Amino acid sequence: SLTGTNLHLAFGTNKVLRGVDLHVDAGDTVTVIGPSGSGKSTLLRVLNRLHEPDQGDVLIDGKSVLKDNPDKLRQQIGMVFQQFNLFPHKTVVENIALGPRKLKGLSKDEARSLALEQLELVGLANKADSRPGNLSGGQQQRVAIARALAMKPEVMFFDEATSALDPELVKGVLALMADLAKGGMTMVVVTHEMGFAREVSDTVLFMDHGAVVETGTPVQLFDKPATERLQQFLSQVL
Ligand code: ATP
Ligand code: MG
Repeated sequence: SLTGTNLHLAFGTNKVLRGVDLHVDAGDTVTVIGPSGSGKSTLLRVLNRLHEPDQGDVLIDGKSVLKDNPDKLRQQIGMVFQQFNLFPHKTVVENIALGPRKLKGLSKDEARSLALEQLELVGLANKADSRPGNLSGGQQQRVAIARALAMKPEVMFFDEATSALDPELVKGVLALMADLAKGGMTMVVVTHEMGFAREVSDTVLFMDHGAVVETGTPVQLFDKPATERLQQFLSQVL
């Protein structure tokens, strides 16, 4: 499990997180929704220690990780962003093999076969030796997901992984994410895709102004929003 407790972070006078709690059990998917600027991406960045919180704690399996080397935590958390950030001059399979080679010390052959396995999983085994630039945006994002999975993370973070994709490519990536969730991956997903949030999440968190305004099951949040703020947000996005 991954837990953030009472997380606070300010950039100067801008209080971006004001005591956020998030808990995801092993095998579960937590989805974070909320308006632009509410602190969703910052929350992910504090949870994987790209930012250190001003206050609060980050725990894996109940044990604080804030005193550990942050690199260790970042290897336990796979990140997928809006931008794929693949190396354009490396092939697809090389992009995926790079992390396991450099960070886990696998041999070239071991890393390649691991990378091919992951590519198979995302349905792109036939693109192994292509360059990223010759793939569609949706395919590139699936490669980015394969790259994260190749590190065998305990938790996967997705930050608006489909926001930069052409509409017809969004479905395939969401379907892959839903498959991962059903397959028992532990996931924290920031998304504007309310259909995904409703169908796939075990828990939904609604953030506004750096705080969790409501949290609960998809049925609770989408069918019986308790606050006016969430009702208003849903009326704008649904
Ligand atoms: P969006 O839906 O648009 O991605 P978000 O909910 O992910 O929004 P954040 O990116 O977490 O929002 O930003 C929350 C606030 O923190 C914003 O006011 C933003 O300007 C500020 N912020 C984020 N990163 C930094 C930074 N590195 N330095 C200073 N301010 C930042
Ligand atoms: Mg964001």
